Amino acid sequence: MKQYLGIDLGASGFKYGVGDSKHGLQHFANIRIRNKSLEELADIFAQILDDTRNMKIAGIGIGCPGTLHMADAKLVGKNPNLPELTGISVKELLPEHLALPIWVENDANLMALAEASLIDPSVVIGITVGSGIGCGIIQDQQIYHGAHGFAAEPGHCIMVPDGELCSCGQKGCLEAYSSVDGIRRRLRDLNSIYHDLNLPDLIFKRKEVKEIDQVITQGEEILIRALANLITVLDPQTVVLGGGAMELGLYSITHIQQQVLQYIPLAHREIVNIALARYKNQAGIMGAILLCERSAG
Ligand SMILES: [Zn+2]
Repeated sequence: MKQYLGIDLGASGFKYGVGDSKHGLQHFANIRIRNKSLEELADIFAQILDDTRNMKIAGIGIGCPGTLHMADAKLVGKNPNLPELTGISVKELLPEHLALPIWVENDANLMALAEASLIDPSVVIGITVGSGIGCGIIQDQQIYHGAHGFAAEPGHCIMVPDGELCSCGQKGCLEAYSSVDGIRRRLRDLNSIYHDLNLPDLIFKRKEVKEIDQVITQGEEILIRALANLITVLDPQTVVLGGGAMELGLYSITHIQQQVLQYIPLAHREIVNIALARYKNQAGIMGAILLCERSAG
């Protein structure tokens, strides 16, 4: 079986691995991002290619945060995680004469693709909770892109009319309340001294600091309503929740499973399954490798 290089561009680092969907990853590593300049990002790609140069690779799959134009994989609009990438494709950061096919896809779409490959249902929604809120919709093991590639952005559905300012410029988006950056921004707006804590410390301090608990609780409640809306619209068999914040336990999967039920129509209550992602922090890489396998044919 051919091996591929999967790269997952996160807000704090690039995770990458070499492998195939049957045997998993033979190699896995992570390079941290410091200043997010295009030069630095290109340099990280060069380091990854150097690290994997002795491995037999048939192609490269890249998971990129943000909204990508389907035709050319260029990043559309403002991306708070990798702001310098707006209007360009990550392909442009790779060496020009690389003799390998490269496929680029939204990172949450790849997480959903990887998780859907582990289970059989025809419709799977994958949600990532991290610095932002990502989503992928998989039907019959294929990514649903919409007409232009812009589908599956519930992070920017407005959940609170005239609510908190979101990084996208709108007010009241799901991401402004339920993402880790959203929670920090809200704490900063409350003049909380805890707004720049890292996520494990925020989760820990929640037990003793009321304002942190209130902001996280509201983030969870708004996420639950957004999940209920997605289930009502899309009728999935399974909703998979992943991303760094779910892994660390920012929100309780049991609470979400129970509470979603009160916001969805009776017909959906018995049939929808909500689960944690199984590939954990390798979901994006495995999705990128799957993308290569399927695209290469
Ligand atoms: Zn938004």
